[in-house]
Amino acid sequence: MDKSQPLFLPSLTGSFSKPAGDNPTVAMMEAAYRHHGLHYRYINMEVDADGLADAVRGAKAQGYVGFNCSLPHKAEVIRLLDGLGESARLIGAVNCAVKQGDGRWVGENTDGVGFLESLKELIDPAGLEIVILGAGGAARAIAVELALAGASKLYVVNRSVSRGQELAAHVAANTCAETVFFPWAGRFEVPASVTVVVNATSIGLAPDGDVLPEVNLETLRANMIIADVIPNPPQTAWLKEAAKRGCKTLDGLGMLTHQGAKNFHYWTGVVADKKVMRHVLAEIFGASQTVP
Ligand code: NDP
Repeated sequence: MDKSQPLFLPSLTGSFSKPAGDNPTVAMMEAAYRHHGLHYRYINMEVDADGLADAVRGAKAQGYVGFNCSLPHKAEVIRLLDGLGESARLIGAVNCAVKQGDGRWVGENTDGVGFLESLKELIDPAGLEIVILGAGGAARAIAVELALAGASKLYVVNRSVSRGQELAAHVAANTCAETVFFPWAGRFEVPASVTVVVNATSIGLAPDGDVLPEVNLETLRANMIIADVIPNPPQTAWLKEAAKRGCKTLDGLGMLTHQGAKNFHYWTGVVADKKVMRHVLAEIFGASQTVP
């Protein structure tokens, strides 16, 4: 326990989202605080879209040092903060608000970098061709970070044409990565030149863990890394099919663990033990204990 802090006054952190009941982040963060002997707490709060401004005002008044924002608040929270980190500005969304030493509140986006760090445990994306299935919030954060990390070509594959086109154009205009959009109609054929394929859609999220993205599975090759953002279940049908074809796989708990560790570092200045965080999530979802 940090002796400099009053015994009965922990540093407060937490999360605003709706729905919030199934969000396991509180268990992961509280375990990490305990493990590192930090006098911090993390409170999971369900907040409506029209209650966000009051919730943020309340957090500031109550002396919070940081908070996460999840759906539906990641874009709306920006106007309630004093500034943005580089990733949050490029992605246009904040999942982690941080109180600075001077009292200013800065919004960061750690979703994409969480995925990137998780991927880097297997491969450096610099110079690689990568397929991103989806163009929503998770896909946007991942596409921006992969492009900034030097991926040579990104294929954005999305059902909604306007959303997919907008994301591909945004990444192409703001980074050096060649970025192309593929309308997702019928089975997507993964080009042989691709090394990583990420399911960044909500397809496969419990209770629909058996549902597969519309991809021709015969185009997955054993030299490819197949990733999923879905944390629950950790072993989606997509990852199981990829493993059957000899591909290396990366589950959504890796991204969740790594983004949680980034948030932890922003709020405490301490490098989090990711094994402890992953262990908690794995216990909750019944998955393998290895990082990523
Ligand atoms: P959004 O609602 O912003 O985007 C959803 C995406 O999924 C869109 O591209 C949408 O396509 C696509 N999609 C949904 N259903 C289908 C379908 N049946 N066929 C084709 N495409 C489909 O959600 P987010 O991006 O915020 O979240 C996506 C997932 O990422 C969630 O399940 C969430 O749990 C997970 N996530 C995981 C994190 C982690 O740390 N592991 C962090 C953040 C999110 P369209 O545009 O055509 O509607």
